[in-house]
Amino acid sequence: MSHTAARTLDVGDDDFAFEDSTAEPTLYEVSGERPHDGADTVLDDTVAPPHGGPPPYVSPSSASTFRSCQRRWEFRYIDRLPDPAGEAALAGTFAHLVLELLLQRPSEERTVSVARDIASAEWPNMSEDPDFVALGLDDEAQRRFRWLAWTAIEGLWALEQPETVDVVATERAIDTMLGNVPFRGIVDRLEREDGLIVSDYKSGRAPSARFREGRLEQVLLYAAAIEADTGERPTHARLLYLGQETIDVEVTPDRLESAIGALDDTWNTMEQVVGAGVFEATPGPLCGWCPYADRCPEGLDELARRHSSGRIRASAPSLRFLHAAPA
Ligand code: SF4
Repeated sequence: MSHTAARTLDVGDDDFAFEDSTAEPTLYEVSGERPHDGADTVLDDTVAPPHGGPPPYVSPSSASTFRSCQRRWEFRYIDRLPDPAGEAALAGTFAHLVLELLLQRPSEERTVSVARDIASAEWPNMSEDPDFVALGLDDEAQRRFRWLAWTAIEGLWALEQPETVDVVATERAIDTMLGNVPFRGIVDRLEREDGLIVSDYKSGRAPSARFREGRLEQVLLYAAAIEADTGERPTHARLLYLGQETIDVEVTPDRLESAIGALDDTWNTMEQVVGAGVFEATPGPLCGWCPYADRCPEGLDELARRHSSGRIRASAPSLRFLHAAPA
């Protein structure tokens, strides 16, 4: 698979200069998105819901976690256990930051060279981030991390010429009601073409055709929230899969209704599940990347099955729980 030219660092550890190479793995062989919305991260630190109570709002990532596994959602959003970002997700977070700062520059300054300068300037902060330090990366692994991040950053130019983007806002926080649901999120980028465009950067692998509709729900919810907030309905919503492709959808009343309806269903189910206090486990491939697998018997069984049948990558971080479990 080769969506983007492979590259490798060619200089010191504190720089972001690159040269072409065919020796490196491609970014998208490493799964990972940002672990949760910026809204989750910010609000977890500032508006903590009562421990054990239902969250006072829902974000796209919270809804997504709930749908994929209620038990994981309980650990993350009810018990509020730490969910540290993995390497690929943190590299994506760093890429988001650099692109945010780049798009805040005057259009003529939105160049690869300036992006590299921003990355270099921000790297000391990243390298001291507790989640990054917790990864325990050695020098070579840190070079790989920077390569992952830079490949995502540089991947923007495969999609567009950033100097042509008419930026309205970056990292726009939204807090509004969508139907009966209290909704919060952070929109990566709001821009104007013929109308408003809601865009979200993605550093993970672009979905195949059958999964696109589900992935678009997030940006359609952002479009609905922007309309609720500003009175102007965005005309398009986009997922920018860095280095790969842009997935664009026209924002129509039907699509908004469908996205809000799905969110409403999820919110109602959340309330029922929280009320009943029963959170079903949904074992599957994602157990390999679940930080709570050591607390989840169904997840450990799933890991054991997948490990013994060779259906899980050796790099899946939760395998450490399996190896630590008593025989
Ligand atoms: S280990 Fe698997 S089943 Fe258990 S909480 Fe995590 S994702 Fe859900």
